[in-house]
Amino acid sequence: MGLIVQKFGGTSVGDVDRIHNVADRVIEEANRGNKVVVVVSAMGKTTDHLVGMAKQISANPSKREMDMLLTTGEQITIGLLAMTLQKKGYEAISYTGWQAGIKTESVHGNARILDINITRINEQLESGRIVVVAGFQGMDESGQITTLGRGGSDTTAVALAAALKADRCDIYTDVTGVFTTDPRYVKSARKLQSVSYDEMLELANLGAGVLHPRAVEFAKNYQMPLEVRSSLEKVEGTLIEEEVSMEQNLVVRGIAFEDGITRVTIFGLPVKRGTLSSIFSALAENHINVDIIIQSISEEQTANLSFSIKTEDMEAALKVLDEIKESVQFERVETEKGLAKVSIVGSGMVSNPGVAAEMFSVLADSEIQIKMVSTSEIKVSTVISAEQMVQAVEALHVAFRLDEIPAVRS
Ligand code: ADP
Ligand code: ASP
Ligand code: MG
Repeated sequence: MGLIVQKFGGTSVGDVDRIHNVADRVIEEANRGNKVVVVVSAMGKTTDHLVGMAKQISANPSKREMDMLLTTGEQITIGLLAMTLQKKGYEAISYTGWQAGIKTESVHGNARILDINITRINEQLESGRIVVVAGFQGMDESGQITTLGRGGSDTTAVALAAALKADRCDIYTDVTGVFTTDPRYVKSARKLQSVSYDEMLELANLGAGVLHPRAVEFAKNYQMPLEVRSSLEKVEGTLIEEEVSMEQNLVVRGIAFEDGITRVTIFGLPVKRGTLSSIFSALAENHINVDIIIQSISEEQTANLSFSIKTEDMEAALKVLDEIKESVQFERVETEKGLAKVSIVGSGMVSNPGVAAEMFSVLADSEIQIKMVSTSEIKVSTVISAEQMVQAVEALHVAFRLDEIPAVRS
């Protein structure tokens, strides 16, 4: 007898019919003799609707009350799914995140899971019940309700699987697996048989919304095998595991992209000790996440500095820079909105020089101007105009032969 954690995302539990379908998938696993813990998201676009209502009240609502509001979404689903399982003749019990023993940091909106007390879930599993847990939520030390960041139900599932020492964690969603790129944008995207933890972590961090990055981090740290699969179609999904051989010797496994990026450039920075640390400490203190950073020195012994941030942080970043302008003594700041980041990811890059060069020449051939670049061992990211984002992804998908991966496997 095994222990399986299954997670079903928003579309998969979008209405009562879909919840029936989910219940059947859970029952199939239980009928195989497994203990089952199910993690669910809020139904359909519920979280977006809740955010929308809050924004009608205030542009900047209290983060504590936002968490109070958003966690209700998942609670609807757990109640409905547990009832459905009971109606079908199976013993089931639903738990909120805090009832399930999920303890998080004291941060609203983006808390990390610190610890899970599995006693209650284990007792229920031992007495033969299916346990249904609300994703995306937990409680901090002082009893405040917290959320794990958008898409965080994946992380609830993997963290529970790790804590319960589950045999497997299956992430059921609205696509049949992890694709070479987002199939919603690129029709020739192909499903991958497997992806390594490291590649998936890069893809998730670089914008592939199919898995929450922290879920992949947990899976890697605890060596938890993950499978991403469809809640509707009964086909093999994508395995995420430690070692994965490259498909047909390709160097790139996938392409991730995201828009909503702004480049900030500071001109005329004095070249002296402490300048960069003053700027980036001030931004960090104001919770502004900086991504790519480029510094160039000009002949007059002043430097220009560019960095990329999320466009939603632009106003706050400009305010911070204005506040430190006098002490740091730079000349002026310029911003460019409407940018996107397109990244190629693959562990095959480590041993293949020239992958970045090929990426740049493909973009040049498509007349796409590269505004910023960053690399790691297994990825190359470029910042380009958001208008050319999908065109860039399509060109790279062809150039790195990702469309040649067979769509259906025998
Ligand atoms: P869920 O509600 O089940 O958590 P999400 O919307 O969070 O579902 O994630 C699934 C979506 O991720 C897909 O519909 C797809 O558009 C998007 N996606 C982005 N990149 C990829 C990729 N490389 N492979 C598969 N899906 C991707
Ligand atoms: N319901 C939350 C969201 O929409 C969490 C999740 O679905 O994973 O972000
Ligand atoms: Mg998701």
